[in-house]
This record gives sequence, C-alpha cells and structure tokens, in this order.
Amino acid sequence: MATTLITGTNRGIGLEYVRQYAQDGWQIIACCRQPATAENLNRLAIQYPDHIRIYALDVADHQQIDQLSTTLANETIDLLINNAGVYPPSDDGGFGSIDYPAWHKTFQINTMAPLKMAEAFISQISNSKLKTIATITSKMGSIADNQRGGSYIYRSSKAAINMVAKSLAIDLKARGIISVLLHPGWVKTDMGGAGALISTEQSVTGMRRILKEITLADSGKFFAYDGQLIPW
Ligand code: NDP
Repeated sequence: MATTLITGTNRGIGLEYVRQYAQDGWQIIACCRQPATAENLNRLAIQYPDHIRIYALDVADHQQIDQLSTTLANETIDLLINNAGVYPPSDDGGFGSIDYPAWHKTFQINTMAPLKMAEAFISQISNSKLKTIATITSKMGSIADNQRGGSYIYRSSKAAINMVAKSLAIDLKARGIISVLLHPGWVKTDMGGAGALISTEQSVTGMRRILKEITLADSGKFFAYDGQLIPW
C-alpha cells in the first residue's frame, strides 16, 4: 500500500486527509507542530495504529525538515501533501495597514516550506511508485480570479507557490515526478470559517479523486477540488 507524508495534520483539511487515507489502508506520516496537544490526530492514530505515525514538524524550520528526512531516509513517499498554511488575521487590514513581519512569516510557511519539503524528501519520493507532490494552494492566488483586491499577504503567498509548483513540475518531469496544485474549495475549518461552503470531507474526497486520476501529463496543473482547472 502507498505512503503519504502530510503537513499540518492536527486540524482542518490535513486532519481529514489523514482520516480518509487511513480508512483506505494507506501508510501515513502525519506531521504537525505539536503532536502532544494534537488530540484529534492522536485519536485517529489510536484508531489506525498500523497506519498512522505522527512526527513533530514546523514547516518554517528547515533544520527540523532536514532532520525528519534523515529519520525517514529509508522510507518511500508516494505522495507528499504540502497542506500546512496560514492566513494572517492582520491581512484583513488592507492597503495602508500591511503587517510586513506577518507577510514574511506567511511566505516562509505558504511559499518556501513546500519547496523545502520537496528538496528534503526528493529521494524518498523518487524511490516511490506514485511520485507525486501535491501542494494545497488557493483560488485566492489566481491573478485571473482576483476581482476584489485586498488580502495582499495571503494572495501573494499563494500566487507565488503556484509559480514554485509549476517550476517543480518542469524541473522534475524527467524524473517522472508529478507536481500539482490543489484548491480545496471554501472549506469549513478554522481558516475557512463556519460560513464556508463545503465540509472537509467533501473537499478532501474531491482532491483525492484528482490525485488518484492524474498522470505525468497533468503535472504543473492547478485544479480545484471538483476537478475544474483554475486559470492562473
Ligand atoms: P487550518 O487553519 O484549519 O489549519 C492549518 C494547518 O496548518 C494547521 O494544522 C496548522 O497547525 C498548520 N500550520 C500552520 N503553520 C504551520 C507551520 N509553521 N508548521 C506546520 N504546520 C503549520 O486551515 P485549513 O485546514 O483550512 O487549510 C489547509 C490548507 O488549505 C492551507 O494551505 C490553506 O491555505 C488552504 N486553503 C484553505 C481554504 C479554506 O477555505 N479552508 C481555502 C483555500 C486554501 P497549528 O495548529 O500548529 O497552527
């Protein structure tokens, strides 16, 4: 059975990825910042003890990423899911109130971390069968879709990760590695809020369907959870 490494798995979309892949019998390397307080994730690991292993990982900490890669040096990783992300509350301040330190931090998490993860785990991914890197982005990173302005920090961090994942797709194609971008929809999580349109279950079910169907020919594409292609 295949193995997936997922970041940001203690809540929200990441937690639901763990639940669904565990239910399907996958091996899951579930990463989160604070395993000791990740109650829902720990409950899942008790329910699926042969399938879920939990590791501490702050994706902004490159040393910790490298250490984890060393710990997992003999593993194969079929699917890396770069899920961890932030939407800084200060982003709602808008023009004239930009929180520049928050922008820097957001770029570390939303934009740089997925590439660092790909660099650090490239050998485990190369040795796998599925050889896929899925990066959770947002339609808010689509320049074509931006009709409302604002959200400078979040939008730019996701537009930039889109470009990163596209370059990855080109650079890694010769090694047979797929890099795709997934917009999860507007999802009821801490980030999406209670007024969001879909549940984590709907979102992750849709994204998993895409991940099951894609081939190397789809590398570099930007999909919504329902399979629609999103314009850049
Ligand atoms: P949540 O806020 O519910 O969860 C975010 C997750 O990311 C948490 O597990 C959080 O961990 C983790 N995380 C944040 N910073 C770090 C870090 N430095 N290192 C490791 N983990 C970190 O958000 P969602 O589940 O909704 O979002 C998941 C992804 O989906 C994100 O990339 C987001 O941008 C994207 N997205 C979400 C949408 C939505 O409507 N919900 C819409 C479009 C995109 P901790 O608890 O430790 O903070």
